[in-house]
Amino acid sequence: MAIDLVSRAAWGARAPRGSYSRLTSTRGVKVHYTGGRVDPAIVTDHAKCVAMVKSIQDFHMDGNGWIDLGYSMIACSHRKVFVGRGPHNLPAANGAGLNSGHYAVLGLVGNSGLVTPPDGLLNAILDAIEYLRAKGGAGKEIKGHRDGYSTDCPGDALYAWVREGAPRPGGGGQQPDPGSTPQWPGRLLKHPPIMRGEDVRAWQRQMAGLGYVIEVDGAYGPKSTAVCVTFQKERHLDPDGIVGPLTWNAAFDPAGHSESAAPEA
Ligand SMILES: [Zn+2]
Ligand SMILES: [Zn+2]
Repeated sequence: MAIDLVSRAAWGARAPRGSYSRLTSTRGVKVHYTGGRVDPAIVTDHAKCVAMVKSIQDFHMDGNGWIDLGYSMIACSHRKVFVGRGPHNLPAANGAGLNSGHYAVLGLVGNSGLVTPPDGLLNAILDAIEYLRAKGGAGKEIKGHRDGYSTDCPGDALYAWVREGAPRPGGGGQQPDPGSTPQWPGRLLKHPPIMRGEDVRAWQRQMAGLGYVIEVDGAYGPKSTAVCVTFQKERHLDPDGIVGPLTWNAAFDPAGHSESAAPEA
């Protein structure tokens, strides 16, 4: 699917106050979130996305005194990608000294309200990354703002997805090679409260593939906990109902499929 770009004219961007520093290429892209509250109604109202991008530009130009908003591109839940500073221009959002290494892509989720990135938003972030690779010489790295900088950005949900290798939602893209284990997402999947995210979805999809009766809804609640405990007992792991590194790796370990397999050499 082609990228659905929202041009600066289309979102009503103010003109930059100065000229950007030019970038030939970068090592990759850093992913960001808003860090504040995002009205959950944004997922059904693209006008709210436009208003939010404009207000971020105002804040960056009038509050921070920057020449323009700090991001290279902005992704919204409607799988649209707003042009920020765009390819080949130095962003400002990664932190001093860290801008020439990576383009900055903002996803319109926050730390309250809308905190779990919808599939449309993840796809839009990936569309932006592919665009920056094709048009801006972005390298392969996909990182979070918190990598190398003291911040909670891009939030736990988006960061878990980044750590998982930023997979396309729905698993339509690349399936993991047989025998390869996707990296544990770096947070414990447990309940309560209900945890949501692409890492939960990936684990649920794997468990469903192993034959467990589980809904692949990206929400880790009592049913996921029960499946986890059953699995842990079968694999002789501590049955605490928490997906940590051992339980995660066991779920993705093809050698573990048959309990009665021949003893290892
Ligand atoms: Zn950030
Ligand atoms: Zn939108």
